Amino acid sequence: MDILSMNKAELKGIIVANKFEASKALLDEAFEIRKLYYGNKVYVRGLIEISNYCRNNCFYCGIRKGNGNVNRYRLTEDEILLCCKKGYELGLRTFVMQGGEDEFYDDDKMCRIISSIKDKYSDCAVTLSLGEKDKETYKRYKNAGADRYLLRHETASVKHYKKLHPREMSLENRKKCLYDLKELGFQVGAGFMVGSPFQTEENLAEDLLFLKELQPQMVGIGPFIPHCDTPFREYEAGALELTITMVALTRILLPKCLLPATTALGTISKNGREKGFMAGANVVMPNLSPTELRKDYALYNDKAYTGDEAVESIKNISEKIKRIGLEIDFSRGDNVDFVEN
Ligand code: SAM
Repeated sequence: MDILSMNKAELKGIIVANKFEASKALLDEAFEIRKLYYGNKVYVRGLIEISNYCRNNCFYCGIRKGNGNVNRYRLTEDEILLCCKKGYELGLRTFVMQGGEDEFYDDDKMCRIISSIKDKYSDCAVTLSLGEKDKETYKRYKNAGADRYLLRHETASVKHYKKLHPREMSLENRKKCLYDLKELGFQVGAGFMVGSPFQTEENLAEDLLFLKELQPQMVGIGPFIPHCDTPFREYEAGALELTITMVALTRILLPKCLLPATTALGTISKNGREKGFMAGANVVMPNLSPTELRKDYALYNDKAYTGDEAVESIKNISEKIKRIGLEIDFSRGDNVDFVEN
């Protein structure tokens, strides 16, 4: 299978053929390709959910502005630094600060937080996932020391994007942000949900083609899971099998990318994450947020925040990864093209 040279129709064909179960050939190819650049390593990142305030109203998301049932919180600089301290002591060397688009963290505040982390933990990478900003803001984040930025494109189809988001949001701006981030020298992460409402197999093929065009260093793929307080409450969750197929295809298409086995994958199935690793995923992002607030960052129903999703279970996670022949790695885990000499 030469997936690298496939056009949209051919990719759609592969997706349809592997919709209900990824073929052994596909999984084997993805598993082997991951080995080429990253051996048997699974990199670990500490995820700090800094705020569940959001100015946006994405139809799928549990922390959308319009959801009045969210117990809103935001972390102070000291609280964030405390999370990093805990993570550092556990051996983590990447901190991911994720949150809704919360204007409380203006550029000065955010840059202060980033540089405080980099001052204290100079051997660590800082990843941000704070949504769409001006290029100037991204530039300030970069100058303050941020290394990576995760911004899923969500869907590469304009028509589908419009069905998932309110009118004031656009795929055009989302893509612009991704290209701005790339230009500024961030390691960039794009990605999408599998099984989001109105998604077609053709849309998924378009997602793959967009990834091929953008060449991000990281890709986040997880199933859509409904949240009871969103307009998409009645829709079904994305399927485990199709998500695994998309993970495997992404690994083959972008051999060097860092590809997490996401929390959403671990939420829809008990062994979803292991299946993700077997399909070429090589990153795990346990939750490092203050324990009592984890339940409030509910993007979807039943979001896993205990057990293997919690940083406190790092030993268990490590054991499980060992059992499938892989090995947890605590280094910064940069994309191979970004490793400093
Ligand atoms: N505000 C930032 C942004 O827009 O990128 C980061 C936070 S946002 C909540 C992180 C990701 O959660 C989104 O990119 C989306 O793909 C995912 N997400 C939100 N709601 C979801 C749902 N119902 N099911 C699965 N994933 C969801």
